[in-house]
Amino acid sequence: MKIHSITVGPVQTNVYLVGDEKTKEAVIIDPADSPEDIMKMIAESGFTVTKILLTHGHFDHIAALGEIAEKTGAEIYISEKDVELLRDENKNASMLFFGIDIHFDMPVKTVKNGDTITVGKLEFTVQETPGHTKGSVCYFAEKAIFTGDTIFATGYGRTDLYGGEYAALRVSLMELAPKLKGKHIYPGHGDAARF
Ligand SMILES: [Zn+2]
Repeated sequence: MKIHSITVGPVQTNVYLVGDEKTKEAVIIDPADSPEDIMKMIAESGFTVTKILLTHGHFDHIAALGEIAEKTGAEIYISEKDVELLRDENKNASMLFFGIDIHFDMPVKTVKNGDTITVGKLEFTVQETPGHTKGSVCYFAEKAIFTGDTIFATGYGRTDLYGGEYAALRVSLMELAPKLKGKHIYPGHGDAARF
């Protein structure tokens, strides 16, 4: 498994390219912003992106979704519970933060607890971690966990935006905690961390 990343956009969101070195197939996790930089990362990596995995539907994780999906032809995966954020510029907070309308109408595939998404020989397993948003998920692949805004190197995500709920996040963090040992987390913002 090979991981590339860049940090883009007004709130410095991490975009990950995670690929299977044998088949050269890869996913993009959270095409946050700056589509030209993401396309450059893909080109330089030598991987072919066939899937886009979203950790949740907030504007700062999806702003480049339209262009990246169109240019790569990749399928899009998101929790069913966050599809409404993709579709609605108020629910994904793009209006609130920047007064700009970011929303998408393209078809997506939805994921739920325990689903596995296969890319080449790589498998990404889904764990639902509601709290930051209703449809926040973490993707587990080998020793890596892509956590979006559920958990960071030194903290956890805010719960004051649409669909956020602190009590739910607490439960999600309790469920995640025992699974972190020996893993590397790759969050939506800030540095990766080793547990
Ligand atoms: Zn978020």
